[in-house]
Amino acid sequence: MTTTEDLIATADAHSAHTYHPLPVVIATADGAWMTDVEGRRYLDLLAGYSALNFGHGNRRLLDAARAQMERVTLTSRAFHHDRFGAFCEQLAALCGMETVLPMNTGAEAVETAVKTARKWGYRVKGVPREMAKIVVADNNFHGRTTTIISFSTDPGSRADFGPYTPGFEIVPYGDLTAMRSALTENTVAVLLEPVQGEAGVVVPPAGYLPAVRELTRERNVLFIADEIQSGLGRTGRTFACEHEGVVPDMYVLGKALGGGILPVSAVVSSREVLGVFRPGEHGSTFGGNPLACAVALEVIAMLRTGEYQARAAELGERLHRELGQLAGTGRVREVRGRGLWAGVDVDPALGSGRELSRRLMDRGVLVKDTHGSTLRIAPPLVIDEEDLDWGLDQLQAVLGA
Ligand SMILES: *Cc1c(COP(=O)(O)O)cnc(C)c1O
Repeated sequence: MTTTEDLIATADAHSAHTYHPLPVVIATADGAWMTDVEGRRYLDLLAGYSALNFGHGNRRLLDAARAQMERVTLTSRAFHHDRFGAFCEQLAALCGMETVLPMNTGAEAVETAVKTARKWGYRVKGVPREMAKIVVADNNFHGRTTTIISFSTDPGSRADFGPYTPGFEIVPYGDLTAMRSALTENTVAVLLEPVQGEAGVVVPPAGYLPAVRELTRERNVLFIADEIQSGLGRTGRTFACEHEGVVPDMYVLGKALGGGILPVSAVVSSREVLGVFRPGEHGSTFGGNPLACAVALEVIAMLRTGEYQARAAELGERLHRELGQLAGTGRVREVRGRGLWAGVDVDPALGSGRELSRRLMDRGVLVKDTHGSTLRIAPPLVIDEEDLDWGLDQLQAVLGA
């Protein structure tokens, strides 16, 4: 057996099979490139589902992490530490909001948003106890906890994990009429991805997000934008909501906030909304730890320059121009997306998404399929123009175009 086969066999023998990874074993990575245990190089067109927006081994982020590691890494929230205030202040400023509640993973931040909205509903809006409803969209992806999968419409995410948490109403994504009729006096929040990532990079119809914003404002309902994947530069703006001039009541952030180094997530909102919490009502041992804050502070500083957003917009134009040409060949059914982010529906006759990902892997490009014959393309925002072109050439070759 090769080293690769050996390592995969060991992993398969001793790990729960919650994923179906491509048969490649990464040993090192730098920028947009990864190298496997046998020295083969691959262009990373997934970027850890957008957790690696700033690339692998980013110098600035590693330096910030290293410097903080030598000082203090964990205090718990039982004590203050000297990076916490700056992290909250600067993240709130980046969001144009007031208050930050830090967590670790995306799912925890979504859970936090759900708890916040419910408590706000009871304490501020005056919804009768136990009656709070949160409206979500079909084909959503907000994480893997018991409550979050309770409002998933993906059978694979849900089946056999009940009983499910009540209090959620599911409406078709992009359907304003359905949204309007779903809102009642007990609705405390609407929770949406401004672009649905896992669903295949689905952009809602123009005007949908502003209309939901207007509707939620009229009905005194919180508009929660899950920007865990769409946010922090991916779409060419700091937040995907900005493309439609929408300011939600709450951002849920994660993935790239940790700079690809460690999990950092947060809920960001107004003082009024996050002010519903009292000490002891919510928390996390690792949430807002010094190392997380130091890395996230560097991420925020990098985003403040606007250069990563500009790069995503510029390279995104190139990406969508090239993919548009592929769509013209009929080998690609549809291309969706925004910025340096695309969902590519390939003609199923050319192979499943998995098979196409395998063929791309053999040509030195790593992507991940979602649902059937959809490929998701989300390179690190620091990718070189020539590398992106080369990656797209490989895609073209695999599609036989
Ligand atoms: C990845 C993701 C999550 C969950 O984040 P984890 O860190 O994997 O828990 C939630 N919402 C969206 C939109 C995501 O893309």
